[in-house]
Amino acid sequence: MPEPLLHLSDLTKRYGTTTAVAGLDLAVAPGEIVALLGPNGAGKTTTLRMLMGQLQPTQGTAKIGGLDCFSERAETMRLVGYLPDEPVFHEYLTGRELLRFVGSLHGLDAARLGEAATQWVARLNLGEAIDDYASNYSKGMKKKLALALALLHRPRLLILDEPANGLDPYATRTLLEVLAEQAAAGVAILFSTHLLDQAERLCHRAAIIAQGRLVAAGAVDELRRQAADGGSLEQAFFALTATESET
Ligand code: ATP
Repeated sequence: MPEPLLHLSDLTKRYGTTTAVAGLDLAVAPGEIVALLGPNGAGKTTTLRMLMGQLQPTQGTAKIGGLDCFSERAETMRLVGYLPDEPVFHEYLTGRELLRFVGSLHGLDAARLGEAATQWVARLNLGEAIDDYASNYSKGMKKKLALALALLHRPRLLILDEPANGLDPYATRTLLEVLAEQAAAGVAILFSTHLLDQAERLCHRAAIIAQGRLVAAGAVDELRRQAADGGSLEQAFFALTATESET
């Protein structure tokens, strides 16, 4: 297995007396797809936001390519494509203008930008909507545009918060194909999801967190074996995350 591209060490975030993420250790190597699973409020979004340098860890570190996600944010962002759960776009920019804007922020020249934009508009079926204001897009179209923006500069790491949320079955199928292709090309991928069957189909490893703590991490087969009855990832998830109030 190659050296990890993403490395979390004792990553912790506290909000006052609430510990959202508690001492998380996790690594993702190039070519690896890791699913971040956990019940509502487990700390998934907080973790991803620390990786994006949007939140400062209370304790511990998150590093991408050896660079600190918070103090070296500008450098790490060149390596990363990020898909937020609910993308929000500037009110008066079309999808095409956003592709140009984000491409120029990443320093893509006109030829490479044009080529990448054409490729992803076609692949993600954005069609003629690309010339409409992105703020008027449907939820699924926003997600597809945000995915195109995340992929535009050929990142080495993809961080995806609930990537399939809002996508129709066609777009979901394309998303899963694109992620598998990206991983095969050596991109490291970390994504959060509540869709356990999708995680099971797509990921090489899963990390399950509950109340901010890592409760299990490993290949899906290993996690299945940890479930009391050795069944599905869903059964493993319930066995590993159940609290008294939920059982
Ligand atoms: P979901 O699956 O519902 O999206 P999640 O796993 O992404 O949940 P987080 O959004 O990371 O969970 O929240 C983790 C914990 O941190 C929750 O208890 C949440 O209430 C708390 N939290 C998150 N953001 C803040 C904030 N800005 N201030 C205070 N507490 C917060």
